Amino acid sequence: MSALEAVSVTKRFGGLVALSDVSLDLRPGEVHGLIGPNGSGKTTLLNMLSGYYRPDGGRTSLDGEELDALSVQRRARLGIARTFQKPRLLPALSVLDNAMLGCWRDTRAGFVETAFALPRARREEKAFRDRAIELVHGVGLGHALTRSAGLLEHAEQRFLEIARALAARPRFLLLDEPAGGLTGAEIEHLGRIVGTVRESGIGVLLVEHHTDFVFRICGRVTTLDRGRLIKHGTPDEVRRDPEVVRVYLGA
Ligand code: ADP
Repeated sequence: MSALEAVSVTKRFGGLVALSDVSLDLRPGEVHGLIGPNGSGKTTLLNMLSGYYRPDGGRTSLDGEELDALSVQRRARLGIARTFQKPRLLPALSVLDNAMLGCWRDTRAGFVETAFALPRARREEKAFRDRAIELVHGVGLGHALTRSAGLLEHAEQRFLEIARALAARPRFLLLDEPAGGLTGAEIEHLGRIVGTVRESGIGVLLVEHHTDFVFRICGRVTTLDRGRLIKHGTPDEVRRDPEVVRVYLGA
């Protein structure tokens, strides 16, 4: 079955075991929540799936093919996109140009074609621009296409980062705390964006502290504590699990 997987992965930083024997599979067209207390290993797992870290034990795979030797860029070309806890936009560039940067993995034009604006490079640029405009509208920023990204509100920067990640036409989208610092209304908007992404067949991994939001929009939820997987299941199963309540949700 097609999936992005971490299979029994372990990750150490010196003497610290950040992840111990953790497995997770992300399927197309699902929203999979990844929750747990601070320091439980959520971002480490996301970094491992996107290629920033290599596992010390276990493996990561896409459709059963091992990924561990592949760089972040190679994985991006295979359809794995991500966002960061702090949006990494180019603040001096416009909203549209930031979104267009996400299209790079589809480029076929070579350096010379691009430098001299030869026909293929021009056609590509037009297609990328059209795709980016559609995505920027899709996340609700159509009114701000020409604004410098650095002038956007915090939530708008998060939405733009999602548009840029989608511009790469990924199969899997890994979101690192996308609701952090957002108001209730903005989280609702984020939920609608994630719902649309899921309906398009993309698998979404949602690392998030807003558990109400996670339980509402995720089909499955994986819970970590101190680098160990303590519960995986439907939102209802996870919400009621005594261990999850004890270490994370509180009584
Ligand atoms: P979470 O995302 O659940 O808050 P992290 O994955 O960021 O947790 O961190 C898990 C543990 O690994 C923490 O103890 C953290 O300090 C440690 N850690 C994460 N990245 C590094 C790193 N690059 N170097 C050393 N320790 C790290």
